Amino acid sequence: FVLNVLAARIAAVRELAESWASRSIVVGTAIVHKGRLLAQQRSYPAPDAGRWELPGGRVEPGEDEPTAVVRECREELAVEVRPTGRVGTDVPLSNGMLLRIHAAELVDPTAVPEAVEHRDLRWVTADELTELDWLDADRVLVHSLRDLLSDA
Ligand code: C5P
Repeated sequence: FVLNVLAARIAAVRELAESWASRSIVVGTAIVHKGRLLAQQRSYPAPDAGRWELPGGRVEPGEDEPTAVVRECREELAVEVRPTGRVGTDVPLSNGMLLRIHAAELVDPTAVPEAVEHRDLRWVTADELTELDWLDADRVLVHSLRDLLSDA
């Protein structure tokens, strides 16, 4: 009986820990198409307006990361993507969350992403990658993103 109670406690704590862990992740999406990477330009908040980032956002409680990637790309770009695996390292954000990048491809290669809530979108080449004014966290990943483009 004591062991059962203990096991239940441990399971409850583990569940809580997992829900905290999943809440603290922001997924970013590296969509590569014809050797270019899709970047989007923020329009808000003021300090970030005009700076560039990968599409993405917070993973919701109970959601897995690939599902969050697909949802965020639908919301922000109005396209369907297929996540293919993680890229680079986790980057800590100033709000205590972690930015984690997943590579993805367009399900329909002829689909045209739209800037639903962003100022602008750009398909950037490996050389253009370094020139964009990225958000601080995304800039850390530029080298990994470059490698992704040279593999493509
Ligand atoms: O887009 P959203 O507001 O959900 O993002 C949550 C946090 O993650 C914000 O602080 C945003 O600046 C950061 N973020 C980031 N790089 C991304 C996407 C989000 O630094 N590619």
